[in-house]
Amino acid sequence: MHELSIATGIVDEIVRIAEENRAKRVLAANLRIGRGAGIVIDSLRFALEVVKTAHPVLTSTEMRIDEVPLIYRCNDCGREFEADDLYLPRCPMCGSYNLRLVSGEEMDIKDIEIEV
Ligand SMILES: [Zn+2]
Repeated sequence: MHELSIATGIVDEIVRIAEENRAKRVLAANLRIGRGAGIVIDSLRFALEVVKTAHPVLTSTEMRIDEVPLIYRCNDCGREFEADDLYLPRCPMCGSYNLRLVSGEEMDIKDIEIEV
């Protein structure tokens, strides 16, 4: 389950930001996870709850996960569209496979809410 190592990385980063801002505790963390990032959201959610228990500053942190849709742009006709999967998506307008990924691979901390 690679979600555990991803969760550890995210939690370490949240703790670092909290320390930098001399936070007493972190109230919430807003995360952006792309549908195409290869992460099982439920597994990540569970892993975050497990990993955060190691950090007193995170005891009451609400982990909010914002799922970013997979958006492609067609290089032939310019249309942008949402796709369900990463495997061989094609443009719904012209049928082209010549696509560029616009969003959906995100895996970042948008912001955190702290109490100082
Ligand atoms: Zn197209």
